[in-house]
Amino acid sequence: MPMPLASGAVGLLGLPTDEASTAAKGSAAGPAAIRDALFSEASNLSSELGVDLGRTDRFLDLGDLELAGGAATRERIESEVGELVRLGGRVVSVGGDHSVSYPILRSYGPMFQELTVVQVDAHPDLYDQFEGDRFSHASPFARVMEEGLVRRLVQVGIRAATAHQLDQAERFGVEIVARADWLEIDRLELEPPVYLSIDLDGFDPAFAPGVSPPESGGLTPNQVLELVWRVPGLVGADLVELNPSRDVGGVTGALAAKLVKELVARLLIGD
Ligand code: MN
Ligand code: MN
Repeated sequence: MPMPLASGAVGLLGLPTDEASTAAKGSAAGPAAIRDALFSEASNLSSELGVDLGRTDRFLDLGDLELAGGAATRERIESEVGELVRLGGRVVSVGGDHSVSYPILRSYGPMFQELTVVQVDAHPDLYDQFEGDRFSHASPFARVMEEGLVRRLVQVGIRAATAHQLDQAERFGVEIVARADWLEIDRLELEPPVYLSIDLDGFDPAFAPGVSPPESGGLTPNQVLELVWRVPGLVGADLVELNPSRDVGGVTGALAAKLVKELVARLLIGD
């Protein structure tokens, strides 16, 4: 059981699991690599929003959840994240592979009516099943949409969608943002509350090589930071698919740490 969060406080929660990843394993080591970069003495904890994470008692590192595997992993994530948020805390979850977003959103869905999820990703993650697994990291948003957990799912950075996934997007009414609009956040007409799910493979591999597999032609850090700072009514976020064994010079870990810093600051400050 992680430490409880005071109402209005923001917790960083590690979800070290990569068993649902069908690509190269390694994202289970993501939370440790993100903490190394975030708390590195070579950097500091000041966000560009003016909050210093090292100087507020409203930011807590909650450590990693112990995850037993399979359905137990999903149940644990759903109940622990749900409990933290129900008591008034805000959580930035760091993976781990993208399968964690389904149990997270199972806990958010009933608490936040009319929730919009903005997903940053190279892939829609809408497979009905992938290699026989309905809970793989290629499927979380199929489960989310089937269960009607969110009002809108808006996907930014998509550039590797198969015909099956495009069919699924149409079936579920998922909004895949066209490349020309990736920078046009105002055109998305987002309404609060918003949850941000950031798969690091949404970035161009030049900025985030430490994912498996990298997909060229992606987003820049500035484009995604705009989302972090400007989506209305941010209530929570996850940051997934960092694979430290694939990283180059720690640049993906540093990008992930930067995102955590700005996400936490944004959740502390509000709109
Ligand atoms: Mn992806
Ligand atoms: Mn993904």
